Amino acid sequence: MTTHAPTAVNRALAPFGTTIFSEMTRLAQLHDAVNLSQGFPDFEGPASVVDAAVEALRGGHNQYARSQGHPALVRAVAEHARRRYGLTYDPLTEVGVFNGCTEAIAAALLGLLEPGDEVVYFEPFYDSYPACVALARGVARPCTLRFPDFAVDLEAFEACLTDRTRVVLLNTPHNPTGKVFDRAELEGIAALCRARDLIVITDEVYEHLVYDDAEHVSVAQLPGMRERTLRLSSAGKTFSFTGWKVGWATGPAPLIAAAQAAHQFLTFCTAAPLQLAVAHALDAFDPAACAALRADFQRRRDFLVDTLRAVGFEVAVPRGTYFVLADFGRVWSGDDRSFARHLVEHHRVAAIPPSVFYAADPDAGRRLIRFAFCKRPETLEAAATRLRGLGGDS
Ligand code: GLN
Repeated sequence: MTTHAPTAVNRALAPFGTTIFSEMTRLAQLHDAVNLSQGFPDFEGPASVVDAAVEALRGGHNQYARSQGHPALVRAVAEHARRRYGLTYDPLTEVGVFNGCTEAIAAALLGLLEPGDEVVYFEPFYDSYPACVALARGVARPCTLRFPDFAVDLEAFEACLTDRTRVVLLNTPHNPTGKVFDRAELEGIAALCRARDLIVITDEVYEHLVYDDAEHVSVAQLPGMRERTLRLSSAGKTFSFTGWKVGWATGPAPLIAAAQAAHQFLTFCTAAPLQLAVAHALDAFDPAACAALRADFQRRRDFLVDTLRAVGFEVAVPRGTYFVLADFGRVWSGDDRSFARHLVEHHRVAAIPPSVFYAADPDAGRRLIRFAFCKRPETLEAAATRLRGLGGDS
């Protein structure tokens, strides 16, 4: 399904082809499918935030912003970190703004790694991780999490650490599993990072999207971790503006400076008026707004989980993010790619085949499929109607 990159692409990037997100959204459009593949909302974020962007556009905020982040946004990011996590950062030296968390990941790895440095992360992984490690001429060491609970096996994790390990790249709440790393897991990982003096990059873009009694803990909150951790997040998921591409990092000044060293040459700065609008959004994001957001996504999750179970999927109920990973073994006998193709062509529902998110053990993902539930209730209803047609296909 993945189309291969043209031959002019260099050796570092050639193996990655076209991302599965572009590929599945293209197929969704081709087959007029309900698109539960790429994780983007099909509804608008808060109108007040759009108004703030329009005001900034009309108010003459249209030239380059400060490269490391507009003063209004770095202040709002630092203030949010203090309010939500009790973590204090100096807005001017310990916060950086990027073109989405994806650029923050790239800039951090490009700015930190020497050729041959190893980066350990869990798989299934977000697909930019191996590509950015390769761009930075680093070496990826993925550690496999397994369906259905995706529990951290600390011994397996430790076995991935070597003398060349420089960075541990975490993602919690975790895409695509919906796992929320618990405090004990993070403490186990943190102890190994402290003992080996490793840098931690933690991708927390789904920080506010947790359900039931799950609690999002940032590894940066654990003892001895703030000083070695770059904590990344963005506006895309929390405020439903994935197309704005406004992300940020907080961390000790030397780590921020490393990411900034790359950022200044990658993009120089992030869209100035959107930075102002996101500063406004973060300032207004109080506990009531957060609770409403969660309740809303949790209803969508429950609907999708119930639908998938009724059709015969075995579901790992996500405690965070807006994705569900399900085992389709009872409804389809082929692998995940053949199932995703069948689903989009014959049932007109697009989903993500996750074996592309594994490198150490691709078989671990071959009977799984990922659905996104960041969609309007009517979109999820339409998907449910089509999914119910799956019975008897295999
Ligand atoms: N984070 C989104 C997802 O997992 C996709 C982002 C992208 O398309 N690169 O679906």
